[in-house]
Amino acid sequence: MKYPKLRELKEAIYSLVTPSYTTKFPKEPHTPYPNFRGKPVVDDANCVGCETCTNVCPSGVITFKDDNDQKIRIIERNYGLCLFCGQCQEHCITGKGVTLSDQIYDLATFNREDLIERQEKELLICESCGAVITTKEHIQYMHKKLGPKAFSSIINLNVLNESLRLASEEEIHVEVRDGLKRKDMFNIICPNCLRKILVKTSY
Ligand code: SF4
Ligand code: SF4
Repeated sequence: MKYPKLRELKEAIYSLVTPSYTTKFPKEPHTPYPNFRGKPVVDDANCVGCETCTNVCPSGVITFKDDNDQKIRIIERNYGLCLFCGQCQEHCITGKGVTLSDQIYDLATFNREDLIERQEKELLICESCGAVITTKEHIQYMHKKLGPKAFSSIINLNVLNESLRLASEEEIHVEVRDGLKRKDMFNIICPNCLRKILVKTSY
């Protein structure tokens, strides 16, 4: 029979009389340590649906689907795939769209669907070619960032008018038809169509 070494015996006795390092979760609530990275929590009021977090997420948690007919962008976040790396928070363009909670750590569930969250954002669609420009909130956020410089973009001007009410909808909205013309620059059109008009009317 082998006898335990003295050091091992000392460790065994020591651990018997000292409190354990691990917590008793789920029997008792666990208190996370400071700066703990838990579930990413979205603040819809500060998320503009820009797609940046989709591009930086290493595990494909965030997906976007654009419905051009309904003019809606559907954003899905599947936290069952999340690594809690914090890239989405770090690269969020508004700085407040998503924040990793330092309290929400218990995501265990029997139904994986429970871990999927959905958001919807209104899309801006080019009135000439039907291409997706971006979300309306994204453009409105850019206006705030740009300040008076926002007036230098024709695409922006149309959306800006919705909040400033400088002209009525009937006055600025002219249906795009019979090919792109200079007047169509003041509709909501994508940068590609805008460039086509500028090239066509410059010569
Ligand atoms: S914490 Fe990391 S893995 Fe989780 S959603 Fe954000 S970027 Fe993706
Ligand atoms: S980067 Fe921020 S603002 Fe853009 S979609 Fe993600 S959470 Fe929303």
